[in-house]
Amino acid sequence: MKSMQENVLISKLTTMRLGGAAKYVQEITALEQVDEAYGFAQKNQLPVYVLGQGSNVIGHDEGFSGLVLVNKLKGFETVSETSDELVVRASAGEMLDDFCEYTASRGYTGMEAMSAIPGTCGAAPVQNVGAYGQEIKDVLVEVGVYDSLQVRHLQIRAEDCGLGYRSSIFNTTEFGRYFITSITVKVRKGQLKPPFYVSLQAFVEREGLTDFSPLSIRHAVSAVRAGKLPNPKEIASSGSFFKNVVVPSAKVAELKAKGIRIWQENGKNVIPSGWLVEQAGLKGKELHGMRVSDKAALILINESAKSYADLAAARQEIINAVREKFGFTLEQEPVEIA
Ligand SMILES: Cc1cc2nc3c(=O)[nH]c(=O)nc-3n(C[C@H](O)[C@H](O)[C@H](O)COP(=O)(O)OP(=O)(O)OC[C@H]3O[C@@H](n4cnc5c(N)ncnc54)[C@H](O)[C@@H]3O)c2cc1C
Repeated sequence: MKSMQENVLISKLTTMRLGGAAKYVQEITALEQVDEAYGFAQKNQLPVYVLGQGSNVIGHDEGFSGLVLVNKLKGFETVSETSDELVVRASAGEMLDDFCEYTASRGYTGMEAMSAIPGTCGAAPVQNVGAYGQEIKDVLVEVGVYDSLQVRHLQIRAEDCGLGYRSSIFNTTEFGRYFITSITVKVRKGQLKPPFYVSLQAFVEREGLTDFSPLSIRHAVSAVRAGKLPNPKEIASSGSFFKNVVVPSAKVAELKAKGIRIWQENGKNVIPSGWLVEQAGLKGKELHGMRVSDKAALILINESAKSYADLAAARQEIINAVREKFGFTLEQEPVEIA
């Protein structure tokens, strides 16, 4: 294929900046390249891994002996617009943050709280991204895909994507089958109503904010995030390293009585993983070249880790400390190329 690269370090394609070489890497800038790339992989019996910005993916030292496709499909297209509703399709390589700007700046609510989540639109349904009370599943209409099994392009309706907390068919039952080429969302005129998610509410009160329009909330969310989350361009991390712990309603009273912090998120009772790590005494600590962020203990920063083994050792120490203190086993959020 034209412009295919060989032996590219995965550390250069992912924000945690770990991982050896991928045998082949192809940037995808046009739809027909997707078909061509899967054809090449099939002919050469290569496994395929799809990447956006690599902000939720960790590479292994041994690299990947297959074809990595880096999604750079661009463009927005209005599907329909009425006085109070907009249906719009974004090509999967557009940044999710640009999509939030696109909808919020036109006065539509539904995506403003997802502002400043790193990564592409195509990755958004994969783990059903969300922040500050909004998730992509709340606005998603359909997902455009290339289906490598049926060897054709098609649309999958949002209700068939199995969207749940940080999960979908794309990272579970159908993992590896689809290359997502676009996402279509429906957003409505209107605005979020207070009280907002805890740290956003604190910001709103501190700043005396009274304008809750989508664009104003977008700016507030971006400011809150900039204050505590690492910018992937400057600091190596994959964002939240552990998933929040979901607990059954029957357990909530007992756990709260023990002083454990629990809140409701999208109808689920969750214990924030960052709180557990902090309570285990690890906030700000350096372990094997990985630092537990001193601003948000759910973030693991690669300061000087030399290999995946360093990350694995740090991860195990954190899991052990939390399990010893609370009995919960933390699960990693970022996925791994293998
Ligand atoms: C500082 C920081 C903060 C973050 N904050 C949040 C947050 O608040 N909420 C949240 O939900 N996430 C958060 N994340 C995680 C990350 O932003 C999301 O998972 C995002 O969707 C990843 O986008 P990406 O383009 O980088 O995808 P990648 O990391 O490249 O890929 C992620 C997964 O999606 C798959 N994938 C990507 N593109 C496609 C495609 N076109 N077709 C098929 N599969 C594809 C990959 O194979 C991989 O399994 C954060 C990450 C960082 C570094």
